[in-house]
Amino acid sequence: MNLADLSTIQNLLAKTGFSFQKSLGQNFLIDPGVCPAMAEAACDERTGVLEIGPGIGVLTAELAKRAKKVVAVELDRRLARILPVTLAECDNVEILYDDVMKLDLKALLSERFSDCERVAVCANLPYYLTSPIVMKLLEERLPLYAITVMVQKEAAERLCAEIGTREAGAVSVAVSYYAEPHILFTVDRTSFLPPPKVDSAVIQLTVRPEPPVTVRDEKQFFQFVKCCFAQRRKTLVNTVSNTAGLGKERIKAALADLDLPDTVRSEQLTLEQLARLCDILYEEH
Ligand code: SAM
Repeated sequence: MNLADLSTIQNLLAKTGFSFQKSLGQNFLIDPGVCPAMAEAACDERTGVLEIGPGIGVLTAELAKRAKKVVAVELDRRLARILPVTLAECDNVEILYDDVMKLDLKALLSERFSDCERVAVCANLPYYLTSPIVMKLLEERLPLYAITVMVQKEAAERLCAEIGTREAGAVSVAVSYYAEPHILFTVDRTSFLPPPKVDSAVIQLTVRPEPPVTVRDEKQFFQFVKCCFAQRRKTLVNTVSNTAGLGKERIKAALADLDLPDTVRSEQLTLEQLARLCDILYEEH
């Protein structure tokens, strides 16, 4: 069955009475080139793949051709009438009907992928959950080597932004702390059924064995970074004094320790400078 063929999909959906649920981010891929390219970038025969949101299985089938094993988590139980049919020929795929945000992924990976040399995530993510899913995958320090996901183009640019540039925000800092991010290719909105209002991009986050900077307290660091980027039009001194409740003189002194001017904006700091600034500001006396 050609799952990227529009009339095949429409027939299948009509036969099973399936209707798209916008609140679940259901935009299914109908471009025959996209899933093979994503699967090729994401895995090989040594890899166990966790897919999030298989939909009718268009990406799942391409992953199954290349990976050792695929475990796909789908929230919408209505798809249990479709997936066993569309994936009937794939004997290395398991579907779990569950909410990925509620799953203990560490336990799942060790139970399902102990016979795989390495584990990757590959998915066309439901857009309403992009950042929460990406952050859950990274913050839980799962034994993943890479995360290859389709997200909205703007989200891709933010997630993969280089720290120290205008495009960077708190989420870019968190991503760069845990992984090396790259945009692989963009995907036009017409590649989906129904077409979303914006274009998309496939990004790959290669998970780092160790963060590139050391911080005294990770939780405090990410809280501090959120404060730094909360008021993007203001200088770092004004933003951090407003959002973290620290005195301006103390912030200016910490910036001076790093040879940074009072007028600097958070987006101009490197990851290393943000880490050092946090450590200086919250140093115990
Ligand atoms: N992989 C398919 C494709 O590329 O055509 C479908 C991708 S669609 C953008 C997102 C999928 O994620 C839908 O199948 C949706 O039902 C599923 N989904 C939404 N929220 C989810 C959640 N919390 N846990 C697991 N799956 C979810």
